[in-house]
Amino acid sequence: MKLNGIAASPGIAIGRAYLISEEPYCVIKRNIGESQIKKEISRFRKAIQTVDIDFKKQKERVSTEMGKTYAKLFNAYGLILKDPLFYKDTIKVITEERVNVEYALQTVIDRITKTFSMLDDEYMRDRIRDVQDVANRVMRVLLGQEKVSLKEIHNRVALVAHALHPSDAVEIKKENVIGFVMDAGGKTSHIVIMAESLEIPAVVGLKRVTREISPGDLIIIDGNEGVVYINPETEILKEYRQRKRKQAKLRKQLIALRDKPAVTKCGEKVELNVNIEDSSEASVVRQYGASGVGLYRTEFFYLNKSDLPGEEEIYKNLKSVADKIFPAKITVRTIDIGAEKISTQLGAKHEGNPFMGLRGVRLCLAYPELFKTQLRGILRASEKKNIHIMYPMITGVKEIRSANLILEEVKGELDKRGIEYDRDIKVGIMVETPAAVMNIENLAKEVDFFSIGTNDLIQYSLAVDRTSGAVSYLYNPGSISILRMIEKIISGARESGCKVSMCGEMAGETIFTELLLGLGLRSFSMSGIAVHPVKKVIRGTSIGECEELADRVMKSGENEEIMKILKERQEKTQGKLY
Ligand code: PEP
Ligand code: MG
Repeated sequence: MKLNGIAASPGIAIGRAYLISEEPYCVIKRNIGESQIKKEISRFRKAIQTVDIDFKKQKERVSTEMGKTYAKLFNAYGLILKDPLFYKDTIKVITEERVNVEYALQTVIDRITKTFSMLDDEYMRDRIRDVQDVANRVMRVLLGQEKVSLKEIHNRVALVAHALHPSDAVEIKKENVIGFVMDAGGKTSHIVIMAESLEIPAVVGLKRVTREISPGDLIIIDGNEGVVYINPETEILKEYRQRKRKQAKLRKQLIALRDKPAVTKCGEKVELNVNIEDSSEASVVRQYGASGVGLYRTEFFYLNKSDLPGEEEIYKNLKSVADKIFPAKITVRTIDIGAEKISTQLGAKHEGNPFMGLRGVRLCLAYPELFKTQLRGILRASEKKNIHIMYPMITGVKEIRSANLILEEVKGELDKRGIEYDRDIKVGIMVETPAAVMNIENLAKEVDFFSIGTNDLIQYSLAVDRTSGAVSYLYNPGSISILRMIEKIISGARESGCKVSMCGEMAGETIFTELLLGLGLRSFSMSGIAVHPVKKVIRGTSIGECEELADRVMKSGENEEIMKILKERQEKTQGKLY
């Protein structure tokens, strides 16, 4: 049987299924007397404390084993425990309805789940799973039931679960878990970010995989295509075993590329940078032999926090990355989130369509103090002149000018305080809206560089929500409309002498590497794991061949035909990379 899901983490795994089915618990309603209310509340508080201590311990472990970004997820878990919707409401149900704590907690979980699942926002729906994970922990402590521990797994198995949580991921040992598949999960699930960091193949969003697989079944997890085979036929198994061997061999060869330059056969140099989300990831630059950091998504610094970070905290964070990779350069993108993500701190209202709402540079211009604090931190960290600033979600000249005015104001403040910083700090923008593309020549006059954000450019141009599974078939970087935009950005930048790079996911997909080179792109930024495969393609091609390919693709103009041309070319020159 073959099931299709979402490709969450690349690679192929073949092995026996290990089903994680948590024993369902049964919650009984007990009516209690006035005198018992105190006791039930005290049981609840103790359970919360136990779980809180557990989270703190796990946070420390994750921090040492996987890095600070992932450890931060436990801050979010800690916040859920203290959230009034969760904490106060459970106490309220105990007191007002005079019921036992387990029943009160279940009532509150059901209420939260119902409210969140009505929201038309995949990110928020993923957050329900976090709330459920936390509530589940508290409930099991109350019921005295041990949680199934993934640490107990000693054979090399493929995990099959309805939903895994970040707290489970900590217990996954790479030696024992060859991959995992889940019924639930979308592209923004925390567990997906973790799977990539662990480099374990994973497919999520399979809906009914736990109902189709029995313990011990042989399964193939294809994390490249988002496909799972259950008890596959001999032919398919043979094919995948071959692919897996090839993938292992290729990975070994690819590691050898780390210290080799990204230069084409004809001698054209290409810049390969990495995207990072946390300062602890700065080491990725050396690990994968990249030129520097092409995109630091600073918004993660603002999430899961009860208070907004101050200038000093921002400065220290950026300085640690800048120093670590010096003399390599880092492009720091200013906050790129919707107001709703930090609404508690800003007092902002919920928006029906946050991707088109008060986010990115709009948020910064609406809350200048928030923006200024970040700019102060960035400028102070720029002393060694290896930091660039980049504004996200730009739609017009005015936004750049307004942002730059604030930047100048902040520079003036630092001058008054006698603080050193890079006075000629380079300022660029993300080109990720159709409005920016259509006015590229004028925008070029305002900035030092562009970075093409294909993730949003595709979303806004093709009118396709980048987080939606239902319309993901329309999300196509190889669409002629997108390619024409990319061509326009590159030529517009070149004519104006403005540097141009690409930091959207497309930059790390090898099927597009030669095409992008053929369209004139010479600077790419991607997740660390993509650097070696892209470098391999670059070293095996020449600009002449790439231009010829780009010519064919652009002349064809048909989406299906384009992908056919690119796939044929990829098979001919690259084979299967994984
Ligand atoms: C993009 O939009 O392509 C991009 C790189 O930014 P993000 O994915 O953070 O929106
Ligand atoms: Mg973007």
